[in-house]
Amino acid sequence: MRKKVCLILVVCFLLALAGTVALAEPHSIPGGPWIQPEQTVKLESLSQPEDVEKELLTIERRSRGRMEVELIGYSAGYEWPLYVAKFGDADDDKAKILIDTQIHGNEPLGTEAALGLIQNLAMSNNPEVRMILDNVTVWIIPMLNMDGSTIQEFEDGSQYQTRCNIQEWTPVEWGLPSDISAPWYNYGFYYPWFEICRGYDMNRDAHPHLAFDLSKHAEHGHIPPGDGGEPGFYVCPEIRALRDVFKELKPDLYVNHHHRGSALVDEEDRKLMTLQILGKFVPLGLEFELYQDGEHHVYYLDEDSLNLSKQVNALVYQKLTEMGNSPFTHITKYPLVHDFNDGRGLPGTTLASFSMNDAAVMLYETRGGIGQKSSGMLTRQSYIGLYETLLGFATGEVYEIDPEFYDVEIPPAGPSLSRPDRGLDGL
Ligand SMILES: [Zn+2]
Repeated sequence: MRKKVCLILVVCFLLALAGTVALAEPHSIPGGPWIQPEQTVKLESLSQPEDVEKELLTIERRSRGRMEVELIGYSAGYEWPLYVAKFGDADDDKAKILIDTQIHGNEPLGTEAALGLIQNLAMSNNPEVRMILDNVTVWIIPMLNMDGSTIQEFEDGSQYQTRCNIQEWTPVEWGLPSDISAPWYNYGFYYPWFEICRGYDMNRDAHPHLAFDLSKHAEHGHIPPGDGGEPGFYVCPEIRALRDVFKELKPDLYVNHHHRGSALVDEEDRKLMTLQILGKFVPLGLEFELYQDGEHHVYYLDEDSLNLSKQVNALVYQKLTEMGNSPFTHITKYPLVHDFNDGRGLPGTTLASFSMNDAAVMLYETRGGIGQKSSGMLTRQSYIGLYETLLGFATGEVYEIDPEFYDVEIPPAGPSLSRPDRGLDGL
């Protein structure tokens, strides 16, 4: 009897699960589904800044020298310690890869994938993992935006994270007159998409001149507010910390992980995408100029770094879609960022700025924003993408891929399911 009850419960559970899976892939119409303001989202399963610190330090102790954790700075608002997990040295004659996650605090699953990857690289006895670490230097910064990742609660008990960090505009500290406007990507209290925001969209704060120093531009030159077609100002301590790590490693590849609300694969297919990817953030050859320290600096995206970006994106697309019974077949490009801002792209993104410093780049835009039902699948998708990338560099397979695959075979972004009153979400 007891057994029977259990069996009935199991059957009920499986039926409920099947229902959940079916619900997770609805034949949606543009305009939904999205999280309604009154919809409670529980975020307890997500790592918090203190969990990241604890986990990294624990893994370091158990890694027997494979991985080192280094403090690289503090978040602007809550002053959470920021860490990079280092597998290998910057000066090694290996392929070098830098990965960060959660530059937007409310885009969390990249951090879960990165922590899983760090644990596997640090502790696995799999010969393939050994082979990767023998051939690739990997540095990972999980949860770059710890302020925004810190879970907050509304009065009704529902929880949220924020896109921005927590930081005020302080022009006098930069030697600027007190009436100089904040950088355009500083948001007083609300981000335009009705999100609470008390600081900066950190993914507009980068500049291709890695030594850019706002305090040297008080008299003339590149001062705020700026706009989306211009580079940022390195006012966020988190982005300066990332920049310093980039300068130290000089990576061949930089990976930056996000979520966006949701989008269809295409008008006909009407399935929800599971991932959007992209490798180009400013047009090829467009020059960004700057005078600083009495010198004229010019930055632009060149063909070599763009080709490797295409190869990396193509590799990830191929590996995810070619898995047996792959659940990851709904992958498209992200909208073409390099066409934004009258053809100037988004040079203040870390991807754009670093791509103008000889790094290949890859953007992950995991589906998100419709609840947490598919979190496990989406985290696994990012984990596999990152792992296969390391493997592709270790074996050299990535260099064998025809860059044209990226242009021809990876489908363009389908229609967005984001709220029409919002701008483009994600990046
Ligand atoms: Zn984002």
